[in-house]
Amino acid sequence: MKVITKKVWIRYAAALALAAALWGSLAWQRQAVLTEARESHPNLYVEPSNSVNTMAEKTVYLTYDDGPSKNTPRILDVLKKHGVKATFFVIGKEDEESLALYRRIVEEGHTIAVHTYSHKYHEIYRSVDAYLEDFEKVENLIYNTTGVHPKIFRFPGGSVNSLVPSKQVHKDIIREITRRGYVFYDWNVVSGDDTATVYPAQTLADNVLKAAGRVKSPVVLFHDAPLCRTTPDATDIVIQRLLEQGYAFAALSEDTQPIQFTSTGN
Ligand SMILES: [Zn+2]
Repeated sequence: MKVITKKVWIRYAAALALAAALWGSLAWQRQAVLTEARESHPNLYVEPSNSVNTMAEKTVYLTYDDGPSKNTPRILDVLKKHGVKATFFVIGKEDEESLALYRRIVEEGHTIAVHTYSHKYHEIYRSVDAYLEDFEKVENLIYNTTGVHPKIFRFPGGSVNSLVPSKQVHKDIIREITRRGYVFYDWNVVSGDDTATVYPAQTLADNVLKAAGRVKSPVVLFHDAPLCRTTPDATDIVIQRLLEQGYAFAALSEDTQPIQFTSTGN
């Protein structure tokens, strides 16, 4: 049997003490960063909804991420044609055309919501403070352009995202931004319109129609990015078919029960 000498014990104890000290110092540093983030961006708060979050049955929530883009007017035309309201998770664009599109989204009764200003994973998910800074930038842009303070948002890549630089930071961001009253929405139906291949409208519509039948209240992920040029026509097909099947359509609001891939950690 191996005898553990006194000298070896001392070495073990010293290594253990060093690890504990290191862990303690890291935990302390993280706490300091979180406290700082809690105190930063003091205007970034919304009143939480007083009503019970519900989701209407056989109601479809169409959502469009990454806009505005050159496809937004066509999406809005299709929605208007059918009298359907949807949700736009927008990014930050400051050219006149984009500003007019933010306004048109709101004027036509859709929900405008935050998707982040830059949509750059390595920037926004770097730290809680970096995320809040980006969030406030697009929040200000939306408010100054439309007069609306968005209360709901969607994380680029969703609330569970393997491409974030740090899972812990992502968790801290979720906890902090939801503590401030904002509600995030993931999705339960994908259209598949966010690939490098531009699929025909019918293919995207088929993806949605197939998946929509499997959930009680479909929250459909579409994209309003420049490449997604078949998305407006796919929207047209989806609405026609689902109306025929007796579905209703609604925009998300903070009163809609959220679909979330992860708990808020509160
Ligand atoms: Zn996105």
